[in-house]
Amino acid sequence: SRWETRLKSSAKPRSCTGHTVLVTGAVGFIGAHASVALKRRGDGVVGLDNFNRYYDVNLKHSRKSKLLDRAGVFVVEGDINDDVLLRRIFDLVQFTHVLHLAAQAGVRYAMINPNSYIKSNIDGFVNLLEAVKSITEPPAMVWASSSSVYGLNSKVPFSEKDRTDQPASLYAATKKAGEEIAHAYNHIYGLSITGLRFFTVYGPWGRPDMAYFFFTKDILNRKEISIFEGDNHGTIARDFTYIDDVVKGCLSAIDTANKSSGNGGKKKGEFRIINLGNTSPVSVHKLVRILEKLLKMKAKKKVVLMPRNGDVALTHANISLARIELGYEPRMDLEMGLKKFVKWYLDYYDVKKKSSW
Ligand code: NAD
Repeated sequence: SRWETRLKSSAKPRSCTGHTVLVTGAVGFIGAHASVALKRRGDGVVGLDNFNRYYDVNLKHSRKSKLLDRAGVFVVEGDINDDVLLRRIFDLVQFTHVLHLAAQAGVRYAMINPNSYIKSNIDGFVNLLEAVKSITEPPAMVWASSSSVYGLNSKVPFSEKDRTDQPASLYAATKKAGEEIAHAYNHIYGLSITGLRFFTVYGPWGRPDMAYFFFTKDILNRKEISIFEGDNHGTIARDFTYIDDVVKGCLSAIDTANKSSGNGGKKKGEFRIINLGNTSPVSVHKLVRILEKLLKMKAKKKVVLMPRNGDVALTHANISLARIELGYEPRMDLEMGLKKFVKWYLDYYDVKKKSSW
């Protein structure tokens, strides 16, 4: 069929050394950027996404038409819980890697729809691992964990050996569960699995549910923005990591993944968990100051002296392991990166700026 022809042609690498990668969550923020980067360097890429409505689905359609279609990445609309669909895709194409980014993201939404986290981050993940392990030569899996697994651990910077047994949100709990599920699949079936713990990823085409994004929107609309602080006035800070740095880390994780020699084979794939952060946390107040400067507008700040449920106070990555394993080195500082985000935002939403300085 036409569908199969398009899928197969998108999956074909440009050279014989290129990889063939299935990217789940392909019209998501990180998935769209990663798919384009893989395709640009000559890998074959097939995207899979259910275009869920957790946030503005128009943005997902725009990422598809403006980024993925232009790069020539074919996207299958479907769910990782659909095992018939997964089998059909894996029957059509022999993938070398799966970059698994599909998930229910966000910390606060778990209080509204807890089951969506279990469905995508646990059931869906297991479903995908089951499909992968059934392939004679299973692709290596690189997937998105999260800095949120460090939870209430207060020892910073976070290193991969630190405790992760105190999640502060259901989201974090499902990411932590994912790491343990992945370990079991590595142990039993020898699947090669790399879990990347992303730290607050931001940039053009970003997620509207994240603070830097809705602060920008609210500042432009002269709306009050709430800044949550613990009752001890502890300021919240995040290790903001620019999208291009994270994508480089993902590509390098794909390139360095050691492959198992299949179900019956002797060589067991490796199991890795690696932080991908920026190693320089910035407070929410500083974030707002940078946005004010870039937008040339004053924010109406309201400080709320109450910790926001599910949020941890500080995230800060130790990236020694990423340096060794992936040759990873974050390049973008927050002000430069936000400048690129703001430029994209004003352009995408066609905002005519009225300065209020
Ligand atoms: P995103 O929400 O933009 O992308 C996720 C995509 O997955 C969405 O397009 C969604 O439609 C799709 N999806 C969700 N459930 C699905 C399912 N069951 N079947 C098929 N598709 C499904 O989020 P993102 O920021 O691009 O995050 C990508 C990954 O990185 C996620 O696993 C997220 O948890 C993780 N992560 C992101 C950050 C960050 O700061 N952005 C930080 C830590 C971890």
